[in-house]
Amino acid sequence: MSWKDSLAKNITTADDIAKRVSLSDEEQEKIRQYTEKYPMSVPEYYFNLINWDDPDDPIRKIAIPRTDAFKQDGVLDTSGESSNTVLQGVQHKYRATVLVLTSPACAMVCRHCFRKRFVGKEDTEIAQNPAEVAGYLKEHPEVNNVLLSGGDSFILDNEKIKGWLDAMTQVDTLDFIRMGTRVPVSFPERINSDPELLEILKKAGEKKQIYIVTQFDHPRELTEEAGKSVKLLQEQGIVVKNQTVLLKGINDDPAVMGDLLRKMSSVGIVQHYIFQCRPVVGAMNYFQVPLTQGIKIIDEVYKNQNGLGKAADYAMSHPTGKIKILGELDGKTVFQYKQAKNPENTGKVFMLDSDDERCWIGPDEIKL
Ligand code: SF4
Repeated sequence: MSWKDSLAKNITTADDIAKRVSLSDEEQEKIRQYTEKYPMSVPEYYFNLINWDDPDDPIRKIAIPRTDAFKQDGVLDTSGESSNTVLQGVQHKYRATVLVLTSPACAMVCRHCFRKRFVGKEDTEIAQNPAEVAGYLKEHPEVNNVLLSGGDSFILDNEKIKGWLDAMTQVDTLDFIRMGTRVPVSFPERINSDPELLEILKKAGEKKQIYIVTQFDHPRELTEEAGKSVKLLQEQGIVVKNQTVLLKGINDDPAVMGDLLRKMSSVGIVQHYIFQCRPVVGAMNYFQVPLTQGIKIIDEVYKNQNGLGKAADYAMSHPTGKIKILGELDGKTVFQYKQAKNPENTGKVFMLDSDDERCWIGPDEIKL
């Protein structure tokens, strides 16, 4: 069976779940209501990681819609992506980096997804033409790297992935290419069963260094199959990096987050960020951890990590830039721009009154 055949069997409805595990009528109805608005799609592989005996199972929370009241607070574009869009599916927020949305699809739709406005739904925000994007990059030599994301760039078929990599490797001013994918986590079969994909990545990597940016959020996601997919990527000369999202009820326990970081280091995954969960519709009320609490969790995690684990910055991807959440000082929460949309602000430090309810920073709160 090909990886596409496997994905075609994803669990997408309450009935699909009820065929595999026991769910009350009420739970099924709640899932039905939720999936009318935001799709569910879970590969059989990931579904089988869920412990259905535990109503608070963290893997279940990542994949399966909630069965309690559905709250709709939040926004759909949490990072101001529309204001950074220069061509369809092409965002140029930071001087040196261009982000390309290559696919509206993912192997699995994560419940905390910040791109739920289009993931699993439409492709109206997706870049269609690699040559056009390469043309933009050639006109902007200040851009030295590109991130091929989505959705999930590995859900494209091999021909399309090759098309993107061929076009990007021909842009002389690019130093490296990043590809955003969660298939090592949710659907490692995509990598483990496809030597042609590995060959495409290896060939492109001989021209430009490729980095994979993935998202392990819980240590139980790092299974033998997941580890194998990471190893196969590394064997093609790819550097695999991770961006975890700090998620209530999933990894907001220092022991769990610490275990995750250590496990990732043991298979050669390089830490990049621990992101504050964004205020996205249908996710913020359930998954966001207040910043003061997040700081305590991450401080505790760092105490038991070596330098590799501590390399993950606790940060938020904010409309104004990537903001490191540094800590608490005299009743203030301290932040620093790691990367600002306005380059003048990169490195600047600012503080806001500590507030145990605060999970995000409003648009007008930052005074530099
Ligand atoms: S893999 Fe990323 S883009 Fe896709 S649903 Fe999950 S969080 Fe969203």
